[in-house]
Amino acid sequence: MSTGSLEVRGLTTSYGAVTALDEVDLGAEPGQITAVLGANGAGKTTLLRTISGLVRPSAGQVLLDGADLTRSATEEIARAGIAHVPEGRGVITELTVEENLRLGAMLGASRRRDGRGLAQVYEMFPPLRERRRQDAHVLSGGERQMLVIGRALLTGPSVLLLDEPSLGLAPRIVAQIFELLRGLVDAEGTTVLLVEQNARSALSIADVGIVLNLGRVVARDRAATLAADDALRHAYLGF
Ligand code: ATP
Repeated sequence: MSTGSLEVRGLTTSYGAVTALDEVDLGAEPGQITAVLGANGAGKTTLLRTISGLVRPSAGQVLLDGADLTRSATEEIARAGIAHVPEGRGVITELTVEENLRLGAMLGASRRRDGRGLAQVYEMFPPLRERRRQDAHVLSGGERQMLVIGRALLTGPSVLLLDEPSLGLAPRIVAQIFELLRGLVDAEGTTVLLVEQNARSALSIADVGIVLNLGRVVARDRAATLAADDALRHAYLGF
């Protein structure tokens, strides 16, 4: 089982002539939430997609506990302990809530950390327990977000990559989900990379942050320090 120390070195990813990531360096540690911030098109989604093997970098490396995963297949990267929750949910609406969760549990059956199971996900997200026998299409936006995070947790990840979990959710629900995430990281020592447009909320629960602009890292620091930097906030963070 990996401890979840993630390192990205000189990562460069292009789509044709567009360089979406340009020599990005990043370290993310167990028990910490690292916010990945920046405007539309900064390269945040590409960073997560490159780490999880969905797109291939032209240069650089992705290391998990020192092991090089850069050329590994997506399934191998998942098996190594990196779970990716993409933007736009991914709930299978024709299945019940519990069936959706069991898919995650199935994928993680051979490698789940002790004690983490459906019961724990239900404890963390009570609305999912209440609706466990209902088709997932009845879920609200916030509940769908809980479901995809819960499903990812059931794969037993040491690293969780979250792409815009706040998208389309009311501020109160965002606060609730971020609080649950903070609790999870504190309790289990998971490594989290949190991609967010909603920089203010993300920095309020993150430990550290990086700011991307046009594929390059323009700032990295403790979350509180980034949030207090007026010039940076105005230039890149939109609050
Ligand atoms: P957003 O918040 O809008 O998703 P982002 O910070 O996640 O922005 P990316 O989606 O990673 O940014 O995009 C980085 C750059 O790569 C942008 O210029 C974008 O237009 C480009 N890009 C992203 N995906 C593709 C693709 N599949 N084909 C071509 N260009 C792409």
